[in-house]
Amino acid sequence: MSHRERVYRTEAIVLRRIDFGEADRLLTAFTPERGKLKLIAKGARKPSSRKSGHVELFSHGQFLVAVGRELDIVTQAETLEPYLPLREDLLRTTYAYYVAELADAFTAERDENRPLFDLLRDAFGWLCEAQDLALVARYYELHLLGLVGYQPQLFVCPGCKARLEPVVNYMSAADGGVFCPKCGRSRVGTTAISLNALKVLRFLQTREWETCRMLRLSPASHSEMERTMQHYIAYHLERSLKSVAFLQRLQRPMQGG
Ligand SMILES: [Zn+2]
Repeated sequence: MSHRERVYRTEAIVLRRIDFGEADRLLTAFTPERGKLKLIAKGARKPSSRKSGHVELFSHGQFLVAVGRELDIVTQAETLEPYLPLREDLLRTTYAYYVAELADAFTAERDENRPLFDLLRDAFGWLCEAQDLALVARYYELHLLGLVGYQPQLFVCPGCKARLEPVVNYMSAADGGVFCPKCGRSRVGTTAISLNALKVLRFLQTREWETCRMLRLSPASHSEMERTMQHYIAYHLERSLKSVAFLQRLQRPMQGG
């Protein structure tokens, strides 16, 4: 390019939105070609602003962005898909926060990842309609981890390289995978994973959502998979996510515990 690009057009999914200054909003948005961006939407909190309805949290839009000195500025925004149920139903909203927080936590700014953009867009769509939101979350986690370089190894033991047998095996977040009983049983930092949970995680990791959405899981399977994945993710992020604690509080009464 002979001169610096001053303005660009991009699709964007809004992952975070916070108030900024008098009337502005600071957005964390995920884009197909530029990865994660921090953007300013000027005047977006004024009721008269034409932008105000188009930079909603979790929405998918088309933005016109001006390159700024520190932060780029959204100059026009048009909603492509509002994902309304994600803002109207508390449980769906909380899962959407989790999906957004996870994408934010595992990515750096301006690191292009088109497949992750597609996954985010799909995940928000599934969260609008699915009955089993936890299943969406597990599918999303496994595919996100694959796209950001933390894919858990669920087929071959990282110790002896043998294919895992259909028995109780041992998950190690630190080693990024599941050990066979011989290697895993006495290894520090592993937790037992049932055959059923391993099978479901493998299924989710390797199949399309259209197939996975048919799965019907018991509450016990769900909670084992949730524990396994959350331990794995917290280990690699070196912290827990705020939305995880909130999800757990919301779900506790429904699980009767
Ligand atoms: Zn082994």
